[in-house]
Amino acid sequence: MAPIVAVRQLTHAFGRGALRKTVLSDINLPLEAGEIVILEGPSGSGKTTLLSLIGALRTMQIGNLQIFGQDLLGAKSRRLMQTRSQIGFIFQHLNLLNCLSAWENVSTSLRLHPQIPKRNYRPQAVAMLNAVGLEDKVDAYPENLSGGQKQRVAIARALVSHPQLVLADEPTSSLDSQAGRDVVEIMQRLAREEGCTVLLVTHDNRFLDIADRILHMEDGRLQS
Ligand code: ADP
Ligand code: MG
Repeated sequence: MAPIVAVRQLTHAFGRGALRKTVLSDINLPLEAGEIVILEGPSGSGKTTLLSLIGALRTMQIGNLQIFGQDLLGAKSRRLMQTRSQIGFIFQHLNLLNCLSAWENVSTSLRLHPQIPKRNYRPQAVAMLNAVGLEDKVDAYPENLSGGQKQRVAIARALVSHPQLVLADEPTSSLDSQAGRDVVEIMQRLAREEGCTVLLVTHDNRFLDIADRILHMEDGRLQS
């Protein structure tokens, strides 16, 4: 079976001319279906850049990147949107919308799938909020949720459409230890139940037990 993600000889740079800086060098990384892979490495080593390239959130420059068997380089925006809709993102900068309640925030991922009828939005969102232990916060707005609760809403939003691939960037970094432990358990349980592939940037030791593989990034290069 083809890997879910196949990264080959990927190189990426920011800036132009004298300011040009290579932040990813010759990255090679296959992710197989159902794997949980941790990516760790010092700040500035290129982890977030790699995740945003794999998630089709940033235009790639050099190399080869296949997601779900399809090439990203040169793909039209329609195809990129379709690819993104199959990925669950848990990124710090993809915050909740303050004007939407918890279930409405979760339902924003369902709206990317035209085949899901609108009447299913609320029941599916509520079921996923149940799965992350927020059954009593379905109608709450972000301003009335703690940091850990908001992070769990973001996880529910990432997983509600049953993506084949979840990309998570330091999902426990802003949480206290109990909330962090809850998030680790929830992600493990849902990854196992949904059988999805997870690529996780984290320094949190509690994730080590649930990982199939641990990769180390240093100066834009991958070591395993
Ligand atoms: P990490 O997630 O491992 O901390 P990043 O991928 O965020 O690393 O950043 C890798 C390098 O790329 C850093 O030197 C950072 O300053 C630089 N960088 C990241 N994003 C941009 C950008 N949009 N423009 C210019 N430089 C960037
Ligand atoms: Mg980062």
